Amino acid sequence: MIIILLGPPGAGKGTQAIRIMESHGLVQLSTGDMLRAAVAAETEVGKKAKEFMAAGKLVTDEIVVGIIADRIEEDDCKGGFLLDGFPRTVAQAEALGQLLDDKGLKVDAVVEMKVNDESLVDRITGRYTCADCNKGYHDTNLKPQKAGVCDGCGSTNFTRRADDNRETVTSRLATYHAQTTPLLPFYEAQGVLRTIDGMADIDDVTVQINDVLNAL
Ligand code: ADP
Ligand code: ADP
Ligand code: ZN
Repeated sequence: MIIILLGPPGAGKGTQAIRIMESHGLVQLSTGDMLRAAVAAETEVGKKAKEFMAAGKLVTDEIVVGIIADRIEEDDCKGGFLLDGFPRTVAQAEALGQLLDDKGLKVDAVVEMKVNDESLVDRITGRYTCADCNKGYHDTNLKPQKAGVCDGCGSTNFTRRADDNRETVTSRLATYHAQTTPLLPFYEAQGVLRTIDGMADIDDVTVQINDVLNAL
């Protein structure tokens, strides 16, 4: 099964991807996570991507398509995968279609997570993650059970993304509306678009996504 989670920054893609991955045996492919790893490791890709990411702009199609093309060749993708944060432009969607076509595969569903812009700003500015296991939290919406200690691994180290600030968020939302929303009619025309209410509670969103996937 090949699933795309489509939604603006802060919609809850990463949060839900981890849950779906566990329940449906899919690998999560997050271009954002891969790019952040490349930036941290100071690879060639990381050096090229860094400025775009800091400004809340998209990294070039060439870079992200290259990353995904390599990644889906790996063994763990054979059982299907869940794309989180890719594609983000029509050109990326077309390139993905071609990559899958070459392997006799196709996108089974595109789950659009709808969330209004004000909530997104709140979600992004309150977001933080465990520095050791990458588990995601929120200042008010999703706190660890024991304050300051990660539920997943017991670590007391947490990080916030450099681009999760108010200024960059505005730019990321504008980028989403201008460059990524054209994917909605693109996938609608292919009959694979499913829209869910991303404003609901985290558990309720999971139920909605599971309903979509179980109906496939
Ligand atoms: P994305 O991967 O789409 O950018 P995340 O999954 O990182 O978004 O979620 C952004 C922030 O919002 C996180 O801090 C997360 O804990 C919180 N969050 C995710 N889903 C919800 C929800 N349904 N309701 C409230 N807060 C949420
Ligand atoms: P969010 O869901 O919160 O927007 P991501 O982790 O998906 O964050 O992406 C962080 C940044 O990485 C984006 O603002 C962009 O600069 C870059 N990026 C991630 N995925 C893509 C993509 N498919 N195409 C272009 N740039 C991307
Ligand atoms: Zn942890």
